[in-house]
Amino acid sequence: MSVTTHPQLNADLHSHSTASDGTLAPATLARRAADHGVELWALTDHDDIGGLSEARDAARALGLRFVAGVEISVSFAAQTVHIVGLGVDPGSTVLQQGLRQIREGRDERARRMAGELEARLGLDGVYAGALRFAGNPALLSRTHFARYLVEQRICRQTHEVFARFLTPGKPGYVEHEWASLADALQWITAAGGVAVVAHPGRYRFTPAEEWALLERFKSLGGQAIEVVTGSHTAAQYRRYADTALEFGFHASRGSDFHSPDESACDLGRLPPLPADVVPVWELLH
Ligand code: AMP
Ligand code: MN
Ligand code: MN
Ligand code: MN
Repeated sequence: MSVTTHPQLNADLHSHSTASDGTLAPATLARRAADHGVELWALTDHDDIGGLSEARDAARALGLRFVAGVEISVSFAAQTVHIVGLGVDPGSTVLQQGLRQIREGRDERARRMAGELEARLGLDGVYAGALRFAGNPALLSRTHFARYLVEQRICRQTHEVFARFLTPGKPGYVEHEWASLADALQWITAAGGVAVVAHPGRYRFTPAEEWALLERFKSLGGQAIEVVTGSHTAAQYRRYADTALEFGFHASRGSDFHSPDESACDLGRLPPLPADVVPVWELLH
């Protein structure tokens, strides 16, 4: 694939399918991306690359340029950080084995979350209920619990479930150790991909911690950060464009689309990257 490098390209390099916590199948997402005018699309499921072959085939049939991606869960300075890998080879055994290793902890975590929520809410069957919402049982996530609690009318929206139960300090939140930053970078690099810090504006780091994350990421071979994403404000587009320039990172753009009913930002419906950054798609070929 040779990618046009113009900065106004309608690239959407962050999205989720039923292979993780999205509600649409990879082929349905490909169609939606094409319908929305996306010119370069990446599927980036959490910790799993099982949706990539369906996505690639569907994109090819639509004439949509496709980038194989993944979003890896990492623990850094007592928080969870997401590192996106773009242009990864799904056949890489290093990547496959690394992802299998971090997926393994999810089931026990989910059972603990279910126990906490049951005790708190006087419910039972929460684990089985969440599992019904998971397209990939190896990837049971907080999002599936949120959907189940909405179905059970405990909350009206998934965002409310996160705010009340599923975020640090809340009763259904279970601490978990994900991959190290070094591991994630190693897996992405071994698979020939470009590593991108996902939605940097979403973490609750102090300025010193954020700086440490970006420095370490860079020293490990990380090359890009998300600047325009569904979870940044307009002020954060500018702020992280400046961060990209300061650190010499390429800039990425991606909706982080999960579902037509839940996601504020749909596929391909983001503002363009600020004109002074270097787009990450210059590194994809
Ligand atoms: P997990 O990998 O199980 O920790 O789930 C993480 C996912 O939960 C993220 O990728 C988002 O899709 C979702 N999520 C996290 N925080 C929120 C929030 N405040 N509102 C809605 N969804 C969220
Ligand atoms: Mn998600
Ligand atoms: Mn994320
Ligand atoms: Mn995501």
